[in-house]
Amino acid sequence: MKTENTGIDLNELMRRPPFRCACGKIHRAHLKEALICEGAIGRLASCVKKYGGTKVYILADENTFAAAGQPVLNDLEKENVPYTLHRFGKERAEPDEKMIGSAFAHFDHSCDMILAVGSGVINDVSKIVAKTTGHPLITVATAPSMDGYASSTSSIVRDGLKVSVDSACPTVVIGDLAVLKNAPLQMIRAGLGDMLAKYISVCEWRIGRIVTGEYYCEDVAALIRAALKTCVDNAGGILTRDPAAVKAVTEGLILSGIAADWAGVSRPVSGVEHYFSHIWDMRALEFGTPFDLHGIQCGVGTLCALRGYERLKTLLPDPVAAKAAFAAFDKEAWFSRLRGFLGKAADPMIGGAKTADRYDPEQHAARLDRICSHWNEILAVIKEELPPFAAVKTLLTELGAPVNPADMGLPNGEAPMVFKITKDIRDKYILSTLAWDLGLLDVIAAVFEEEN
Ligand SMILES: [Zn+2]
Ligand SMILES: [Zn+2]
Repeated sequence: MKTENTGIDLNELMRRPPFRCACGKIHRAHLKEALICEGAIGRLASCVKKYGGTKVYILADENTFAAAGQPVLNDLEKENVPYTLHRFGKERAEPDEKMIGSAFAHFDHSCDMILAVGSGVINDVSKIVAKTTGHPLITVATAPSMDGYASSTSSIVRDGLKVSVDSACPTVVIGDLAVLKNAPLQMIRAGLGDMLAKYISVCEWRIGRIVTGEYYCEDVAALIRAALKTCVDNAGGILTRDPAAVKAVTEGLILSGIAADWAGVSRPVSGVEHYFSHIWDMRALEFGTPFDLHGIQCGVGTLCALRGYERLKTLLPDPVAAKAAFAAFDKEAWFSRLRGFLGKAADPMIGGAKTADRYDPEQHAARLDRICSHWNEILAVIKEELPPFAAVKTLLTELGAPVNPADMGLPNGEAPMVFKITKDIRDKYILSTLAWDLGLLDVIAAVFEEEN
């Protein structure tokens, strides 16, 4: 299953025993196998037996069952593997308390393996069921739409807020290209969007290392770059559902999960573009504003980030002005604007921001020093990692994917505020925190007011 352009063999990566890398960490992948080929579902029952399953608890919804349910059941029945099936309804469900509760309420305790048939939501719920029951999980992917297949966290809605919780990584992911290539086009576009995000995340990881001295692994970054390149090289085939394009996106997404698993942090796979997406999700939950698939939002977020970096490159650090901007900042006034824009989702963010490094004067001064003395290095990283905004915009436009908030039904005029809030989501060093440290947050945010 070697991907021609990158030469990365996914299964070779997974078979590698845990090893100590030059970055200082011991890298190990929790995913044991990925079968990404035409007819892969025909190997499902043998996988179940190989990993000790005697009866499987299947989770699917009406849509994912329509995509892959019957071949899954056929293969299990052919090999005499008993199962209990729990099917969620057709409506677009959130992985919330009700849905997770339903998965447990129907759980058959004679099952000793969990089988997810689906993509984002089914995947998130099944990983929680696997974690809680302690049973291994096999995932039959129905769409290459997001990079969570190989991760051990789930994104859920709890008490009306989107949060990330610990869950179980699958033992095997089965990606049958006969199923995946027939996924809704918007879901394949979304998968590509979640991959394009990696331009930004890898770039920001390197900038974070320069400014804050945080952990970084070049091997992990190199894996992501190679997978991303294969996706982009093959992206032209997405509209015709070319199996090579679909395979590249699927493998890229799984590989991203493995790379994040190796690193033990989400740094290599998620940066400011994902925070744009988080904020759109938060507003959708709180105010019912329009939203789109995670990866579609990440694609738009990636373009926003690329515009912001292109503006940043034209500016020069001015430490005196940066310190003055920091001193003049009215934290309480900002938090009240934040609460107005996000509703109750703002509270945990404000709680975290109160003690955050970015608002500490001494830490700010230290970071500003490092930024100014390493400015050329930061510019070189941006140049090395980021493609031109125009090139990515053309790519997404040709695929018929949204390229700005308005294409998703959101007012473009809100984008500056969304950008400014991204710095408060977590203490991750990203474009908005860099701009904040330089006293240039408003200057960068202003690019989102211009036509693009
Ligand atoms: Zn490493
Ligand atoms: Zn993502």
